[in-house]
Amino acid sequence: MTSPPSPNGADRSGYTFPGVGQIFWRGVTKRCPRCGSGHLYRRYLSLVPDCPRCGLHFEREDGYWGGALAVNIAIVMAIFIVTFVGIMIATVPDVPVGLSLLILVPIMVLGPVVFYPYSKTIWMAVDYGFLQKVSGKA
Ligand SMILES: [Zn+2]
Repeated sequence: MTSPPSPNGADRSGYTFPGVGQIFWRGVTKRCPRCGSGHLYRRYLSLVPDCPRCGLHFEREDGYWGGALAVNIAIVMAIFIVTFVGIMIATVPDVPVGLSLLILVPIMVLGPVVFYPYSKTIWMAVDYGFLQKVSGKA
């Protein structure tokens, strides 16, 4: 049985939960969702296992990064759809197929790599700020 969050909003480690906007911003800027510390990546794709400041362990269970995969797909698909619709609106009825592919294919190939580290920290923010707080597991 898990204990509910303390009345002052702090988690079990003593860190006070920031607001929803701040948690999301920490995810977007590749920072720890609990303390806001940066430097979470050794290299572009290599996330440290624990936060260097507060010690929050990031991969809480097997399969944890499946949520980051969903975030990555959502970000890249949103960019693809906005770009695709923008090209369609700007060029109908003479849609340049070759130019469209020249723009859209790199988005789908490079987008997942570019947004990989951001998708992990955004997923950590969603998990920490919403799922753990609501369930009282933080
Ligand atoms: Zn931290």
